[in-house]
Amino acid sequence: MMEAEFNMGKILVLGGAGYIGSHTVYELLDKGYGVVVADNLETGHRQAVHPDAKLYIGDIRNREFVDGVFEKEEIDAVVHFAAYSLVGESMTDPLKYYGNNVGGTQVLLASMAAHGIDKIVFSSTAAAYGEPKRTPILETDPTEPTNTYGATKLAMEQMFKWTELAHGIRYTSLRYFNACGAHPSGEIGEDHRPETHLIPIVLQAANGTRPSISVFGTDYDTKDGTCVRDYIHVCDLAQAHAQAVRYLMDGGKSDIFNLGNGVGFTVREIINAAEGVVGHNIPTVFAERRAGDPAVLVASSDKAKSVLGWKPQYADIHAILETAWKWHRTHPKGFSEN
Ligand code: UDP
Repeated sequence: MMEAEFNMGKILVLGGAGYIGSHTVYELLDKGYGVVVADNLETGHRQAVHPDAKLYIGDIRNREFVDGVFEKEEIDAVVHFAAYSLVGESMTDPLKYYGNNVGGTQVLLASMAAHGIDKIVFSSTAAAYGEPKRTPILETDPTEPTNTYGATKLAMEQMFKWTELAHGIRYTSLRYFNACGAHPSGEIGEDHRPETHLIPIVLQAANGTRPSISVFGTDYDTKDGTCVRDYIHVCDLAQAHAQAVRYLMDGGKSDIFNLGNGVGFTVREIINAAEGVVGHNIPTVFAERRAGDPAVLVASSDKAKSVLGWKPQYADIHAILETAWKWHRTHPKGFSEN
């Protein structure tokens, strides 16, 4: 596709080879934006980058690399996913998380300020809240992260706030709950190494790539004793990023938005629903609680709906699991096969 055909603007997606980033690239292209991806391919996959997006391979901690992208491309807005995101690892190696997530964002913002780029959509997390005081969680609720990953994302949000005052860079910060599912085309999906998330692990137990799913804790104060989470389809997250880009381009003010379905499912309910989708039993074992897991995390996303005009398309957990199953069934080794 010729660059001249893009009339919506050109968007730089940092971390566009990752799970949510790659789905957002598909969505932005679909909406008519030109898309440039920058990714160091440390956790992302080259095959996940849409062929119509131009890929720069490099690290946002490298100021020359970031400056080079802004000098070669006329970027209208940035969407920023480039960060480490494993909660467990963030506790054993916190400085790795501060170095990349906080340090990388500092380099990025300095380069944006130097090149007069003044809009950024930021990938934040429900982990910014920590143990919630109430359900559903509102954006105004206290932010007391219980792990380093959440703490670095909150620090990045705060960096945006102060940088806007000095350099006029407007931002939207999107705090996702549990991202899941895959692109309905079956071309891209979730492939974390190592995989730690519930739905891909359940489906890998279903397709035989792992022996079983371990349920972490059956003694929580919930309806069946297992943790409750708010599962939101990755394409709905992608749509929210495109809406947030539009919002900033239309002059919207900096703000923070939750993104979730507003409905909670227990771990047992997810496994039962997945058994319905795959059509057979999934080997399940019961294990101890995982450290740092709150019992219930459910979002209120009314603000994203009213301010950004976000309209999530996947309310039904079966429909969400079907898209994930299409990906895992056809790509049992993730992107390695392609
Ligand atoms: N979980 C589980 N077994 C696994 C992975 C996750 O029981 O192998 C549980 C986990 O304790 C949590 C829920 O599934 O209650 C969702 O976990 P995930 O890691 O997918 O997302 P998180 O909520 O930690 O962001």
